[in-house]
Order: sequence, then C-alpha cells, then structure tokens
Amino acid sequence: MTVIGDYHIHTNFCPHGSNDLMEQYIKKALSLNLKEITFTEHAPLPVGFVDPTPNHDSAMSWNDLEEYIQTINHLKQLYQKKLKINLGFEVDYIEGYEKQTKAFLDQYGEHIDDAILSVHMLQTPNKEYVCIDYSREMFGNIIDTFGSVDSIYEKYYQTIEKAIQCNLGKYKPKRLGHLTLIEKFHLIYPAKNNYNEKMDEILMQIEAKHMELDLNSAGLFKEDCREIYPNISIINKAIKRNIPLVPGSDSHASNGLTKGFDQFPNTIPLSEPTYLD
Ligand SMILES: [Zn+2]
Ligand SMILES: [Zn+2]
Repeated sequence: MTVIGDYHIHTNFCPHGSNDLMEQYIKKALSLNLKEITFTEHAPLPVGFVDPTPNHDSAMSWNDLEEYIQTINHLKQLYQKKLKINLGFEVDYIEGYEKQTKAFLDQYGEHIDDAILSVHMLQTPNKEYVCIDYSREMFGNIIDTFGSVDSIYEKYYQTIEKAIQCNLGKYKPKRLGHLTLIEKFHLIYPAKNNYNEKMDEILMQIEAKHMELDLNSAGLFKEDCREIYPNISIINKAIKRNIPLVPGSDSHASNGLTKGFDQFPNTIPLSEPTYLD
C-alpha cells in the first residue's frame, strides 16, 4: 500500500493542538515522500454557539480565519513544485446551527479545496450541548445526562444522519470525519446494543449522497478505543459500497503525520479526496 497523502491535519491555529508551524508539517510530509496534504483546522464554531468544553478551545478563533487562509495560500505557492497543499477545514455539524454553518461555508467556500464534516457536539434532551470526545471523565458525565451509553450512541447516529442529509449549500464538505468517534471510550464505556443495522442505513445514505469517509488512524492511539475510525467491519461494508476512504492522521503535531497508516489492512483501497470546486 502506498500512501500518497494525509488528508486530516491540524495546525498551530488549533487552540488544543501543538504550536508546530504549518511549515513543519510540510517538511515532515516531504520527508515521508507524501505528494499531497490537506490542512483541516477546526473551523470557527457557529456564531452564537457556546463551546461546552472547559477551556472553550475546540476550534480556531474567527479572528484567525483570514490569517489561516493567507498562510496556507502562501505555502501553496512556496511549495507548489514539491507538494500539493489543500486548504481545508474540519467543520462541525451541530444540530440547530445549520443556518450559521451554511453561512460560514457560503462565505469562505471559494477558498476551500477539501473539507471534512464531523460531529463532536450533541444536543442533550434538555437542549444543551455536550462534546463527546473531550475526556473519559466528561463522557461519564454525558452518560448521566442521557441516562445510558446507548442513548448517547442513538443520539450520535441520529446526528450523523442529519449531517449527511443537511443542506449546507454548494460548499458542504464531501467527507465525514471519524464516523465512529462515539466509540472513543468504548473500552471503558461499552454500549449494550449493536448498531450494525443503523450503520447499514448510514452507509446507504453516504453512498446515495456521494460522500466519502475519513479513514482516521487517531483512534488507534486512544487508550479507551484502540481502533481505526471507522472500525474494520464498517470499513469492509464501505468498501462493498465503493464509498471512498480517504486517509487522515488527525495530527495535532507535525510528528503525527501518517501515524498509524501502517496499521491499515492493505486490502483497503485508499482514495484521494473529492475536491470542492
Ligand atoms: Zn482537534
Ligand atoms: Zn474531529
């Protein structure tokens, strides 16, 4: 299996990541002989949405947006002979904030080459919001809020379906991020039910909408997960449906590029992204 790119990469514009500069990621990519990368910083959260994490550091600031775009465009020029650099975002799908998210994409979409749509935030039964991947402790609190692990899983997969179906305009990201992020703490907080049928429905919808999946190696290194997002059985179902699987390390530091890609079974056909036009 030859890996030509890493298509899920964070940057120093991320408040919960490292301070490694984009150029360090680029140099690392070149040292790995990559031909292409996509920077997918967490897009600024929708106007009016209050980040439920303790330090409110889930995403880049609106104030940094122009600089993020300019920096990548500058580096694209600088390295154009050596590396294809895509400007991207990891955009949150947040139930109830679709209008604001579409407004962001409508405004900035012309700058975007390639983007990911992810669900990290869930609306609770009392219409507040929680972040599902912040910490083991916080996940424990979310179980109390929802009443059971399975209620969280159900809400998560409902929210994923909304993300797939939602009209976010012509610049809607084509790729769904870490489809099974809800399993980040599954070794300590296992679900009782299985979600095979739900997953079949979701994959059918992804196929129908011509979307693709982030083949995300980060879960392999989470101590309560130890699996690729999505897990192997879902990967195999996606392959049968010809859903493109686009590799991403979800690196928040330059030395994380392509980390874990060597653990992808070599039966997985790796795809390049479908670029936004
Ligand atoms: Zn992050
Ligand atoms: Zn993410």
